[in-house]
Amino acid sequence: MSKIQALRTLRIGERPNLLWVELETEDGLTGLGETFRGAEAVEAVLHEQVAPWLVGRDARQIEAVSRHLAQPYLGFNSTGAEMRAASAVDIALWDLAGQRQGVPIHEALGGRVRGTVPVYNTCAGYAMKIWPFDGFAAGGGQTISLADLKAGLEPFQRIRKAVGDRIEVMCELHSLWGQHAATRICRALEDYDVFWAEDPIAKMDDAQALADLRRQTRVPICGSETLGGLRAFRELLAADALDVVMLDLSWCGGLTIGRKVAAFAEAYAKPLAPHDCTGPVVLTAGLHLAAHAPTAIYQEVVRASLSTWYGDLVTELPLIHKGQAQAPSAPGLGTRLHPQLRQRDDLHVRLSGTPRR
Ligand SMILES: [Mg+2]
Repeated sequence: MSKIQALRTLRIGERPNLLWVELETEDGLTGLGETFRGAEAVEAVLHEQVAPWLVGRDARQIEAVSRHLAQPYLGFNSTGAEMRAASAVDIALWDLAGQRQGVPIHEALGGRVRGTVPVYNTCAGYAMKIWPFDGFAAGGGQTISLADLKAGLEPFQRIRKAVGDRIEVMCELHSLWGQHAATRICRALEDYDVFWAEDPIAKMDDAQALADLRRQTRVPICGSETLGGLRAFRELLAADALDVVMLDLSWCGGLTIGRKVAAFAEAYAKPLAPHDCTGPVVLTAGLHLAAHAPTAIYQEVVRASLSTWYGDLVTELPLIHKGQAQAPSAPGLGTRLHPQLRQRDDLHVRLSGTPRR
């Protein structure tokens, strides 16, 4: 038994959406998890609903914990506060599992199939993702005018003119568009050989609408970081609504759900691309999954975050060279919260259970 004795949440005023979870076990280990958005709401779920059930349980029983926390009576099959709490706990449990076994998480998952993972930047590098249409969705996104369409295409024209076909370009649509406008945008993007159009419609759990869009355009459709739970991914894949499977481990249910989504992607012969824009722990967890998952093609990175504030939060960041991130080699996640984080004036810590310190 590796009994969980304490659950600690940490957040900082400077980054109000970020929330970390530390699970301490009686055998002296600390597992780290993270989630993003509505940090105080998730913190409340963790201390009011999760901790009373979780503290005292065996940290080795990750699947059983996931079955309980990621399928709550309310908040299931979503990326709501319950699922975000479950996701952070699950990442921490996998961190503990790796540390206990003395292996990186990708090895605990079954081993890596690649030693490095290609990364793309949200916004420059060997592959880049941009969102020039977002500003035109202010009216609700049901329609897009020809003038706005032309303006949104300009960056793609400039990129192709500047670098030709030497980089891949993705178009992020941030779930801002209705079916008609999304179809119009995707069709217009066909001339620029975009690698994918991401989250084209609102909401991305609408398998029928997405499948209909996909039939009307040659642009590959990517989705979606906004989905939680296995069933949402199953329904999109079964409806032939996706070309590329995107997930966010701090929203979908953690690595336990994430690795099953990766298995779906493999079974449906679709590439997998974990999301970042969340935080450094999710980025690291995504890299472990991308090293392990057979059909993973990319890990998203945000160079602007990676080269600045991510480094203030954790002790280790992924090593990236020439567009490739190295699979982490230290036990567990291979990163911890930075000691300086605990000294910050804007740090909010809340505790359930009995900590070691
Ligand atoms: Mg996205």
